[in-house]
Amino acid sequence: MTIPSKLPNIPTSIFSVMSKMAIDYDAINLSQGFPNFPSDPTLNALVENAMRDGYNQYAPMPGDFELRMEISKKIENLHNHFYNPESELTITAGATQAIFTIIAATIQKCDEVIIFTPAYDCYAPTVQLFGGKIVPIQLKPPLHQVDWQEVADKISSKTKMIIINSPHNPSGMLFTKEDMLELQRLTEKNDILVLSDEVYEHIIFDKNKHQSASKFEALANRSFITASFGKTFHNTGWKIGYCAAPKHLMTEFQKIHQFVVFSVNHPAQKALATYLKDKTHYLKLSDFYQQKRDFFLNVLKDSRFKITPSKGTYFQMLDFSEISSESDIAFTERLTKEHKIATIPTSVFNEGKKDFKQIRVCFAKTDKTLAEAAKILSEL
Ligand code: PMP
Ligand code: GLN
Repeated sequence: MTIPSKLPNIPTSIFSVMSKMAIDYDAINLSQGFPNFPSDPTLNALVENAMRDGYNQYAPMPGDFELRMEISKKIENLHNHFYNPESELTITAGATQAIFTIIAATIQKCDEVIIFTPAYDCYAPTVQLFGGKIVPIQLKPPLHQVDWQEVADKISSKTKMIIINSPHNPSGMLFTKEDMLELQRLTEKNDILVLSDEVYEHIIFDKNKHQSASKFEALANRSFITASFGKTFHNTGWKIGYCAAPKHLMTEFQKIHQFVVFSVNHPAQKALATYLKDKTHYLKLSDFYQQKRDFFLNVLKDSRFKITPSKGTYFQMLDFSEISSESDIAFTERLTKEHKIATIPTSVFNEGKKDFKQIRVCFAKTDKTLAEAAKILSEL
């Protein structure tokens, strides 16, 4: 029996494609975004303890209460906004499941959703799955700044949601306070929801501050915020994240969450609840990754790539237009097969697959791997 595809034009995610190619060609893998160093042994031991203490059955549907309390405290300390752990926070199977559930809970047939491209790959297909229409706004290298007049022009009576992602994957761009105020003004004026993907909230460089949607009262009242412990604590494979939203939005989120996954890994949630009590575990992350960014850029300084330093995330865009006139897909394939280094072509995230000759590298790697990678890239 054949079935009509619900996503006929959607290929396998570029992250799976490039990571597989890295394995097939025994290449250094700077493609998919994950660290090649271990998750903290202290945190791992806390999971073991939780298993030994018997937390091996279903967690409560919205998540372990202690963990929700710690997240609530963290957000209040950092952004001065209180989310009630009883009714405004849910622990999810990574940010991916939160994003899916947010869109499932809100988007109906013919609703328009504004996204900024290059955009993380799950937004558009999920919106399409629920009958929504993507309205893309292309950000341009090297700065990838938003033109808010363009956003205002693209808003229509059908605009239901704007999806933002700061720090931004893949560009490393950051929304400023002024950006957030513009977003707040436009979404209030036009009564639009916001999905704020903040998975890189703790990876911000050069003393800049994270402008969480929760910092802005009127914005917080119409936003779903999602974050990912996988990014913050070097364990992307655990797939634990969360969603924060005002009660009336969270009620709808949980109606769907209970049928998508019901609840997520219990021992890991218990461990994270304890680990989060020590703020340094997440507050030191920006310095940790800034050191990696600076180390990597320093070893690349004599390369022929044009580079605008990333302001956040653990990604760096490299402009290869002075090295090759190939498409970014051909270039990354050749780099993997012939030079044994896997990266991500960013045209796949753009409106109409527009090719700005930018590849994305992940610098969440040991200094040894970064030095080896930079040596290969410098010789191109
Ligand atoms: N959003 C962005 C921007 C990402 O880069 C990622 C990648 N991890 C996710 C969401 C998904 O996060 P998770 O792995 O927690 O599902
Ligand atoms: N977020 C990661 C990246 O941007 C990948 C996650 C995934 O493989 N879906 O590379």
